[in-house]
Amino acid sequence: GHKSRVAVIGSGNWGTVAAKLIASNTLKLPSFHDEVRMWVFEETLPTGEKLTDVINKTNENVKYLPGIKLGKNIVADPDLENAVKDANMLVFVTPHQFMEGICKRLVGKIKEGAEAISLIKGMEVKTEGPCMISSLISNQLMINCCVLMGANIANDIAVEKLSEATIGYREKGEIAEKWAQLFSTPYFMVSAVEDVEGVELCGTLKNVVAIAAGLVDGLEMGNNTKAAIMRIGLREMKTFSKLLFPSVKDSTFFESCGVGDLITTCLGGRNRKVSEAFARNGGRRSFDDLEAEMLQGQKLQGVSTARDIYGVLRHRGWLELFPLFSTVHEISTCRLPPSAIVKYNLQKPVLT
Ligand code: NAD
Ligand code: 13P
Repeated sequence: GHKSRVAVIGSGNWGTVAAKLIASNTLKLPSFHDEVRMWVFEETLPTGEKLTDVINKTNENVKYLPGIKLGKNIVADPDLENAVKDANMLVFVTPHQFMEGICKRLVGKIKEGAEAISLIKGMEVKTEGPCMISSLISNQLMINCCVLMGANIANDIAVEKLSEATIGYREKGEIAEKWAQLFSTPYFMVSAVEDVEGVELCGTLKNVVAIAAGLVDGLEMGNNTKAAIMRIGLREMKTFSKLLFPSVKDSTFFESCGVGDLITTCLGGRNRKVSEAFARNGGRRSFDDLEAEMLQGQKLQGVSTARDIYGVLRHRGWLELFPLFSTVHEISTCRLPPSAIVKYNLQKPVLT
Protein backbone atom coordinates (compact mmCIF):
# COMPACT_ATOMS: atom_id res chain seq x y z
CA GLY A 1 0.00 0.00 0.00
CA HIS A 2 0.95 3.66 0.12
CA LYS A 3 1.17 3.86 3.88
CA SER A 4 4.54 4.41 5.50
CA ARG A 5 5.91 1.99 8.04
CA VAL A 6 8.15 3.26 10.82
CA ALA A 7 10.88 1.39 12.67
CA VAL A 8 12.78 2.84 15.62
CA ILE A 9 16.32 1.51 16.00
CA GLY A 10 17.16 1.95 19.67
CA SER A 11 15.20 1.73 22.91
CA GLY A 12 17.13 3.58 25.59
CA ASN A 13 15.76 6.54 27.52
CA TRP A 14 15.23 8.85 24.54
CA GLY A 15 14.68 6.01 22.07
CA THR A 16 11.70 4.78 24.07
CA VAL A 17 10.22 8.27 24.42
CA ALA A 18 10.70 8.90 20.69
CA ALA A 19 8.87 5.65 19.93
CA LYS A 20 6.02 6.69 22.26
CA LEU A 21 5.70 10.05 20.54
CA ILE A 22 5.79 8.55 17.06
CA ALA A 23 3.34 5.77 17.95
CA SER A 24 0.80 8.32 19.20
CA ASN A 25 0.98 9.98 15.78
CA THR A 26 0.89 6.88 13.57
CA LEU A 27 -2.44 6.02 15.24
CA LYS A 28 -3.85 9.39 14.20
CA LEU A 29 -2.27 9.93 10.78
CA PRO A 30 -3.85 7.98 7.91
CA SER A 31 -0.62 8.04 5.88
CA PHE A 32 1.17 5.77 8.39
CA HIS A 33 0.68 2.18 9.49
CA ASP A 34 -0.29 2.09 13.15
CA GLU A 35 2.41 -0.35 14.20
CA VAL A 36 5.84 0.98 15.18
CA ARG A 37 8.59 -1.63 15.45
CA MET A 38 11.22 -0.80 18.04
CA TRP A 39 14.51 -2.67 17.92
CA VAL A 40 15.67 -3.50 21.43
CA PHE A 41 19.23 -4.51 22.30
CA GLU A 42 18.11 -7.58 24.21
CA GLU A 43 19.01 -8.06 27.83
CA THR A 44 17.90 -10.24 30.69
CA LEU A 45 16.43 -8.40 33.66
CA PRO A 46 17.25 -9.30 37.29
CA THR A 47 13.88 -11.15 37.35
CA GLY A 48 15.20 -13.49 34.64
CA GLU A 49 12.77 -12.14 32.03
CA LYS A 50 13.81 -10.76 28.64
CA LEU A 51 13.41 -6.99 28.29
CA THR A 52 11.50 -7.32 24.97
CA ASP A 53 9.00 -9.75 26.52
CA VAL A 54 8.36 -7.38 29.40
CA ILE A 55 7.93 -4.39 27.07
CA ASN A 56 5.46 -6.31 24.90
CA LYS A 57 3.54 -7.68 27.87
CA THR A 58 3.35 -4.54 30.01
CA ASN A 59 3.74 -1.74 27.40
CA GLU A 60 6.48 -0.29 29.54
CA ASN A 61 10.26 -0.13 29.15
CA VAL A 62 10.88 -1.01 32.78
CA LYS A 63 14.65 -0.59 32.46
CA TYR A 64 15.10 2.66 30.51
CA LEU A 65 11.78 4.47 31.02
CA PRO A 66 10.10 3.04 34.12
CA GLY A 67 6.65 4.28 35.06
CA ILE A 68 5.57 5.39 31.57
CA LYS A 69 2.96 3.51 29.56
CA LEU A 70 3.69 3.14 25.86
CA GLY A 71 1.17 2.80 23.06
CA LYS A 72 0.07 -0.79 22.43
CA ASN A 73 1.02 -0.26 18.78
CA ILE A 74 4.71 -0.33 19.74
CA VAL A 75 6.21 -3.77 19.17
CA ALA A 76 9.59 -4.47 20.79
CA ASP A 77 11.73 -6.66 18.54
CA PRO A 78 15.14 -8.10 19.53
CA ASP A 79 15.92 -9.02 15.90
CA LEU A 80 17.50 -6.03 14.14
CA GLU A 81 16.96 -7.28 10.59
CA ASN A 82 13.37 -8.23 11.25
CA ALA A 83 12.67 -4.87 12.89
CA VAL A 84 13.69 -2.90 9.78
CA LYS A 85 12.71 -5.24 6.96
CA ASP A 86 9.31 -3.75 6.08
CA ALA A 87 10.01 -0.18 7.18
CA ASN A 88 10.42 2.70 4.80
CA MET A 89 11.01 5.26 7.58
CA LEU A 90 13.91 4.46 9.90
CA VAL A 91 14.49 6.39 13.11
CA PHE A 92 17.98 5.87 14.55
CA VAL A 93 18.34 6.60 18.27
CA THR A 94 21.08 4.63 20.06
CA PRO A 95 24.19 5.83 21.89
CA HIS A 96 26.54 6.82 19.05
CA GLN A 97 29.30 4.32 19.91
CA PHE A 98 27.08 1.41 18.77
CA MET A 99 26.15 2.82 15.38
CA GLU A 100 29.11 1.61 13.38
CA GLY A 101 28.32 -2.01 14.30
CA ILE A 102 24.58 -1.53 13.75
CA CYS A 103 25.13 -0.03 10.28
CA LYS A 104 27.39 -2.93 9.29
CA ARG A 105 24.66 -5.38 10.25
CA LEU A 106 22.06 -3.45 8.25
CA VAL A 107 23.92 -3.27 4.94
CA GLY A 108 21.71 -4.87 2.28
CA LYS A 109 18.82 -5.39 4.74
CA ILE A 110 17.06 -2.06 4.26
CA LYS A 111 13.93 -1.69 2.14
CA GLU A 112 14.45 -0.05 -1.24
CA GLY A 113 13.75 3.68 -1.11
CA ALA A 114 13.75 3.88 2.68
CA GLU A 115 14.41 7.22 4.40
CA ALA A 116 16.27 7.73 7.67
CA ILE A 117 16.44 10.27 10.47
CA SER A 118 19.05 10.32 13.23
CA LEU A 119 18.33 11.50 16.78
CA ILE A 120 21.86 10.52 17.81
CA LYS A 121 24.18 13.09 19.35
CA GLY A 122 27.77 12.13 18.62
CA MET A 123 30.34 11.54 15.90
CA GLU A 124 32.76 8.87 14.73
CA VAL A 125 36.38 9.83 14.27
CA LYS A 126 38.38 7.85 11.73
CA THR A 127 41.88 8.32 10.43
CA GLU A 128 40.52 10.25 7.45
CA GLY A 129 38.68 12.64 9.76
CA PRO A 130 35.43 13.11 11.67
CA CYS A 131 32.24 11.56 10.35
CA MET A 132 28.84 12.64 11.61
CA ILE A 133 26.45 9.79 12.48
CA SER A 134 23.97 10.86 9.78
CA SER A 135 26.78 10.52 7.21
CA LEU A 136 27.73 7.11 8.59
CA ILE A 137 24.10 6.00 8.10
CA SER A 138 23.87 7.62 4.64
CA ASN A 139 27.15 6.25 3.39
CA GLN A 140 26.86 2.73 4.76
CA LEU A 141 23.21 2.16 3.91
CA MET A 142 23.03 4.34 0.79
CA ILE A 143 19.99 6.21 2.09
CA ASN A 144 19.11 9.84 2.68
CA CYS A 145 19.35 10.81 6.36
CA CYS A 146 17.83 13.83 8.12
CA VAL A 147 18.51 14.66 11.77
CA LEU A 148 16.33 15.72 14.70
CA MET A 149 17.97 17.43 17.69
CA GLY A 150 16.77 19.86 20.34
CA ALA A 151 16.26 20.69 23.98
CA ASN A 152 14.82 17.27 24.68
CA ILE A 153 15.46 15.77 28.10
CA ALA A 154 13.64 12.49 27.51
CA ASN A 155 12.00 12.09 30.92
CA ASP A 156 10.23 15.45 30.56
CA ILE A 157 8.91 14.65 27.08
CA ALA A 158 7.74 11.27 28.40
CA VAL A 159 5.29 13.13 30.65
CA GLU A 160 4.34 15.41 27.76
CA LYS A 161 5.81 18.68 28.98
CA LEU A 162 6.09 21.26 26.21
CA SER A 163 9.33 21.30 24.29
CA GLU A 164 10.79 22.19 20.90
CA ALA A 165 12.99 20.37 18.43
CA THR A 166 14.79 21.09 15.17
CA ILE A 167 14.91 18.89 12.09
CA GLY A 168 17.91 19.35 9.81
CA TYR A 169 17.40 18.35 6.20
CA ARG A 170 19.59 18.38 3.11
CA GLU A 171 17.10 19.33 0.42
CA LYS A 172 13.77 21.03 0.63
CA GLY A 173 11.03 18.59 -0.21
CA GLU A 174 8.41 16.21 1.01
CA ILE A 175 10.58 14.19 3.33
CA ALA A 176 11.38 16.98 5.83
CA GLU A 177 7.62 17.69 5.96
CA LYS A 178 6.87 14.05 6.54
CA TRP A 179 9.34 13.71 9.41
CA ALA A 180 7.98 16.90 10.98
CA GLN A 181 4.48 15.45 10.73
CA LEU A 182 5.55 12.18 12.32
CA PHE A 183 7.17 13.88 15.32
CA SER A 184 4.95 16.93 15.94
CA THR A 185 2.47 16.86 18.80
CA PRO A 186 0.86 19.71 20.74
CA TYR A 187 3.63 19.30 23.33
CA PHE A 188 6.49 18.67 20.87
CA MET A 189 6.97 21.60 18.50
CA VAL A 190 9.15 20.78 15.54
CA SER A 191 10.65 23.17 13.02
CA ALA A 192 12.95 22.32 10.13
CA VAL A 193 16.10 23.98 8.76
CA GLU A 194 18.22 23.23 5.72
CA ASP A 195 21.43 22.52 7.65
CA VAL A 196 22.01 18.86 8.57
CA GLU A 197 25.60 19.41 9.69
CA GLY A 198 24.80 22.48 11.78
CA VAL A 199 21.93 20.79 13.61
CA GLU A 200 23.89 17.59 14.21
CA LEU A 201 27.05 19.36 15.37
CA CYS A 202 25.03 21.45 17.83
CA GLY A 203 23.56 18.29 19.38
CA THR A 204 26.94 16.60 19.47
CA LEU A 205 29.12 19.42 20.77
CA LYS A 206 26.81 20.65 23.52
CA ASN A 207 27.49 17.40 25.38
CA VAL A 208 31.10 18.55 25.86
CA VAL A 209 29.94 21.93 27.16
CA ALA A 210 27.60 20.09 29.55
CA ILE A 211 30.59 18.28 31.06
CA ALA A 212 32.22 21.69 31.64
CA ALA A 213 29.01 23.04 33.19
CA GLY A 214 28.79 20.03 35.51
CA LEU A 215 32.34 20.64 36.70
CA VAL A 216 31.41 24.22 37.57
CA ASP A 217 28.42 22.92 39.55
CA GLY A 218 30.62 20.42 41.39
CA LEU A 219 33.11 23.17 42.21
CA GLU A 220 30.18 25.32 43.48
CA MET A 221 31.24 28.29 41.40
CA GLY A 222 27.75 29.74 40.95
CA ASN A 223 25.70 30.94 38.02
CA ASN A 224 27.89 33.71 36.63
CA THR A 225 30.71 31.24 36.11
CA LYS A 226 28.35 28.69 34.66
CA ALA A 227 26.94 31.27 32.23
CA ALA A 228 30.48 32.19 31.18
CA ILE A 229 31.31 28.54 30.53
CA MET A 230 28.11 28.08 28.52
CA ARG A 231 28.79 31.21 26.46
CA ILE A 232 32.39 30.26 25.74
CA GLY A 233 31.23 26.74 24.95
CA LEU A 234 28.63 27.99 22.51
CA ARG A 235 31.28 30.08 20.80
CA GLU A 236 33.55 27.05 20.45
CA MET A 237 30.60 25.02 19.11
CA LYS A 238 30.05 27.60 16.40
CA THR A 239 33.73 28.03 15.52
CA PHE A 240 34.33 24.27 15.34
CA SER A 241 31.20 23.60 13.29
CA LYS A 242 32.08 26.26 10.73
CA LEU A 243 35.69 25.13 10.44
CA LEU A 244 34.52 21.57 9.69
CA PHE A 245 31.57 22.55 7.49
CA PRO A 246 31.63 26.10 6.10
CA SER A 247 28.00 25.63 5.02
CA VAL A 248 26.81 25.65 8.66
CA LYS A 249 24.48 28.60 9.25
CA ASP A 250 24.72 31.08 12.16
CA SER A 251 20.94 31.00 12.55
CA THR A 252 21.03 27.27 13.43
CA PHE A 253 22.67 28.11 16.78
CA PHE A 254 19.56 30.07 17.75
CA GLU A 255 17.23 27.12 17.10
CA SER A 256 16.19 24.58 19.73
CA CYS A 257 19.07 22.34 18.63
CA GLY A 258 21.54 25.12 19.45
CA VAL A 259 21.14 27.44 22.39
CA GLY A 260 17.98 25.60 23.53
CA ASP A 261 19.66 22.23 23.91
CA LEU A 262 22.78 23.82 25.40
CA ILE A 263 20.71 25.39 28.17
CA THR A 264 18.62 22.35 29.05
CA THR A 265 21.58 19.96 29.00
CA CYS A 266 23.73 22.24 31.16
CA LEU A 267 20.85 22.59 33.64
CA GLY A 268 19.31 19.14 33.73
CA GLY A 269 21.17 16.55 31.66
CA ARG A 270 22.99 13.34 32.50
CA ASN A 271 26.37 14.64 31.29
CA ARG A 272 26.03 17.55 33.72
CA LYS A 273 24.96 15.32 36.57
CA VAL A 274 27.80 12.81 36.28
CA SER A 275 30.35 15.57 35.71
CA GLU A 276 29.21 17.35 38.88
CA ALA A 277 29.84 14.13 40.82
CA PHE A 278 33.26 13.80 39.15
CA ALA A 279 34.26 17.28 40.37
CA ARG A 280 32.83 16.68 43.87
CA ASN A 281 35.07 13.62 44.10
CA GLY A 282 38.05 15.74 43.05
CA GLY A 283 38.48 13.59 39.93
CA ARG A 284 39.35 10.53 42.03
CA ARG A 285 36.56 8.38 40.57
CA SER A 286 36.50 7.90 36.80
CA PHE A 287 33.64 8.95 34.55
CA ASP A 288 33.16 5.28 33.56
CA ASP A 289 32.73 4.31 37.18
CA LEU A 290 30.32 7.13 37.95
CA GLU A 291 28.36 6.51 34.73
CA ALA A 292 27.83 2.86 35.66
CA GLU A 293 26.79 3.75 39.21
CA MET A 294 24.59 6.76 38.51
CA LEU A 295 22.91 5.99 35.17
CA GLN A 296 21.81 2.33 35.46
CA GLY A 297 22.67 1.33 31.92
CA GLN A 298 22.11 4.70 30.27
CA LYS A 299 25.12 6.13 28.49
CA LEU A 300 27.09 9.39 28.60
CA GLN A 301 28.11 10.93 25.31
CA GLY A 302 30.10 13.99 26.39
CA VAL A 303 33.30 12.34 27.59
CA SER A 304 33.88 10.26 24.47
CA THR A 305 32.89 13.19 22.27
CA ALA A 306 35.47 15.38 24.05
CA ARG A 307 38.09 12.72 23.34
CA ASP A 308 37.10 12.53 19.66
CA ILE A 309 37.11 16.32 19.31
CA TYR A 310 40.51 16.50 21.00
CA GLY A 311 41.88 14.08 18.39
CA VAL A 312 40.57 16.27 15.58
CA LEU A 313 41.95 19.45 17.19
CA ARG A 314 45.39 17.96 17.73
CA HIS A 315 45.53 16.50 14.24
CA ARG A 316 44.63 19.83 12.64
CA GLY A 317 46.70 22.05 14.95
CA TRP A 318 43.59 23.74 16.36
CA LEU A 319 44.04 23.00 20.09
CA GLU A 320 44.82 26.63 20.94
CA LEU A 321 41.59 27.79 19.34
CA PHE A 322 39.46 25.60 21.61
CA PRO A 323 40.58 25.95 25.24
CA LEU A 324 37.25 24.78 26.66
CA PHE A 325 36.89 21.66 24.52
CA SER A 326 40.50 20.63 25.07
CA THR A 327 40.44 21.33 28.81
CA VAL A 328 37.34 19.13 29.23
CA HIS A 329 39.25 16.24 27.69
CA GLU A 330 42.34 16.88 29.79
CA ILE A 331 40.22 16.90 32.95
CA SER A 332 38.22 13.79 32.06
CA THR A 333 41.48 11.90 31.50
CA CYS A 334 42.92 13.25 34.78
CA ARG A 335 45.76 15.17 33.15
CA LEU A 336 44.32 18.31 34.76
CA PRO A 337 42.26 18.71 37.95
CA PRO A 338 38.54 19.66 37.71
CA SER A 339 39.36 23.23 38.82
CA ALA A 340 41.28 23.77 35.55
CA ILE A 341 37.92 24.38 33.85
CA VAL A 342 37.81 27.86 35.39
CA LYS A 343 41.49 28.62 34.82
CA TYR A 344 42.01 27.77 31.18
CA ASN A 345 41.07 31.16 29.79
CA LEU A 346 43.59 32.89 32.06
CA GLN A 347 46.42 30.99 30.42
CA LYS A 348 45.25 31.06 26.86
CA PRO A 349 44.22 33.82 24.49
CA VAL A 350 40.55 34.74 24.62
CA LEU A 351 38.88 35.02 21.27
CA THR A 352 35.58 36.77 20.75
P1 NAD B 1 20.55 5.50 26.75
O1 NAD B 1 21.59 6.39 27.23
O2 NAD B 1 19.39 5.27 27.63
O3 NAD B 1 21.38 4.20 26.34
C1 NAD B 1 21.20 2.93 26.65
C2 NAD B 1 20.82 2.14 25.39
O4 NAD B 1 21.98 1.54 24.80
C3 NAD B 1 19.89 1.01 25.78
O5 NAD B 1 18.84 0.91 24.87
C4 NAD B 1 20.80 -0.20 25.71
O6 NAD B 1 20.10 -1.37 25.43
C5 NAD B 1 21.68 0.16 24.54
N1 NAD B 1 22.88 -0.64 24.43
C6 NAD B 1 23.75 -1.01 25.41
N2 NAD B 1 24.74 -1.76 24.90
C7 NAD B 1 24.50 -1.84 23.56
C8 NAD B 1 25.19 -2.47 22.47
N3 NAD B 1 26.31 -3.13 22.67
N4 NAD B 1 24.66 -2.32 21.23
C9 NAD B 1 23.55 -1.62 21.01
N5 NAD B 1 22.85 -1.01 22.00
C10 NAD B 1 23.34 -1.12 23.26
O7 NAD B 1 20.00 5.88 25.29
P2 NAD B 1 19.20 7.17 24.82
O8 NAD B 1 18.96 8.10 25.95
O9 NAD B 1 18.02 6.68 24.04
O10 NAD B 1 20.24 7.91 23.87
C11 NAD B 1 20.36 7.68 22.50
C12 NAD B 1 20.83 8.95 21.82
O11 NAD B 1 19.88 9.98 22.05
C13 NAD B 1 22.17 9.49 22.32
O12 NAD B 1 22.90 9.99 21.22
C14 NAD B 1 21.78 10.64 23.22
O13 NAD B 1 22.77 11.65 23.27
C15 NAD B 1 20.53 11.14 22.53
N6 NAD B 1 19.59 11.89 23.36
C16 NAD B 1 19.26 11.49 24.61
C17 NAD B 1 18.34 12.22 25.34
C18 NAD B 1 17.93 11.84 26.73
O14 NAD B 1 17.37 12.68 27.45
N7 NAD B 1 18.11 10.61 27.15
C19 NAD B 1 17.76 13.35 24.77
C20 NAD B 1 18.09 13.72 23.50
C21 NAD B 1 19.02 12.98 22.79
P1 13P C 1 22.21 14.27 28.46
O1 13P C 1 22.66 13.08 27.62
O2 13P C 1 23.33 15.03 29.06
O3 13P C 1 21.15 13.87 29.47
O4 13P C 1 21.48 15.26 27.45
C1 13P C 1 20.24 14.92 26.96
C2 13P C 1 19.90 15.76 25.79
O5 13P C 1 20.48 15.63 24.74
C3 13P C 1 18.82 16.75 25.96
O6 13P C 1 18.46 17.35 24.74
